[in-house]
Amino acid sequence: MTQRLSELTTMQVGGSPAELLEAHSRDQLIDYVTGVWATGDDWLVLGGGSNIVAADDLGHLTVIRTLNRGIERNGNLLRVQAGENWDEFVAFTVEAGLTGVEALSGIPGCVGAAPVQNIGAYGQEVADTIVRLEFVEYPSGDIRVLEAKELGFGYRDSIFKHGRAGVITWVEFELSDQPPASLDRLNQAIGREVATSAEIRREVLATRASKGMVLDPADRDTASCGSFFTNPIVSDGFSRSIPGDAPRWLQPDGTVKLSAAWLIENSGLGKGFKLGDSRAALSTKHALAITNRGDATAEQVRELASFIQLQVANRWGVNLVPEPNFVGF
Ligand SMILES: Cc1cc2nc3c(=O)[nH]c(=O)nc-3n(C[C@H](O)[C@H](O)[C@H](O)COP(=O)(O)OP(=O)(O)OC[C@H]3O[C@@H](n4cnc5c(N)ncnc54)[C@H](O)[C@@H]3O)c2cc1C
Repeated sequence: MTQRLSELTTMQVGGSPAELLEAHSRDQLIDYVTGVWATGDDWLVLGGGSNIVAADDLGHLTVIRTLNRGIERNGNLLRVQAGENWDEFVAFTVEAGLTGVEALSGIPGCVGAAPVQNIGAYGQEVADTIVRLEFVEYPSGDIRVLEAKELGFGYRDSIFKHGRAGVITWVEFELSDQPPASLDRLNQAIGREVATSAEIRREVLATRASKGMVLDPADRDTASCGSFFTNPIVSDGFSRSIPGDAPRWLQPDGTVKLSAAWLIENSGLGKGFKLGDSRAALSTKHALAITNRGDATAEQVRELASFIQLQVANRWGVNLVPEPNFVGF
């Protein structure tokens, strides 16, 4: 079976039909990846395709899609197969009265990709609940289990974000049966305090939807990779050159995280901005998302991203770092 990456990704760009292998179990996933590696062909492991910008011309590529599902529960410990839908997993934990991932409700994609960039939202990060994971190491094909401390977790970062460490088959989480930690950023966003994980999930889903951050085929603002740039972390001294009304979050090491959305909007690039007649544009709801307004090319996405980087660097002296994974550029 062949399919274009534009049909397999939420950004909906990417040409050249790719050979598609669908892995429905852990063992099939291992067989497929080791089989493709043995051929030396170019390959990509794909979950929900929600954090990928694929080039217009990809050449020959084999895509291995994780569709292996299943949640095994042992008390507060949950072993989850890589192809499990992330948000359905979150819903399962909330219904089970477990806490720790409720603020990550509504993030698209699969469980196997969650550790790759250490997904996060409203001050919660998945790294705080991951205990260990299993992966097929590239290129040896060895099956290895790594503990959380070996995964190089940082802000939107892990050992899997850089190059090809391998393919994750399952992830183990340790959740809590205690009430959820208070989420200042969510409370600020909605103007009141929410206390239960079910309430947090409901409010997070509603807030995200209002910003085009929950996938909706009827809403072009969600044809995106979510946030296109990470929030830059700068020194305390440098942060003083940014106006006082700009959002900022002090980090435990004394550095300061700035809002990439604020920097973009205050560089003259408002919501909905696009270059000429390009079909790639900033979301009409959130200046941090680059969206496909319908038949955009990967090149148009790349051009808009470069333009934003240039404007923000010229105006504020900050280099914005893209968050999605670029394939075939
Ligand atoms: C509307 C929208 C909102 C979003 N909001 C957020 C948010 O709030 N916070 C956030 O952190 N992210 C967010 N994202 C980004 C994205 O949803 C997450 O990064 C998600 O974890 C990607 O999952 P996926 O299965 O779609 O990964 P894919 O896009 O399929 O893959 C992403 C990368 O991970 C690799 N990968 C996938 N599966 C595996 C595996 N099993 N083993 C090894 N590598 C693998 C791929 O090769 C690729 O490099 C958002 C995206 C969208 C479209």
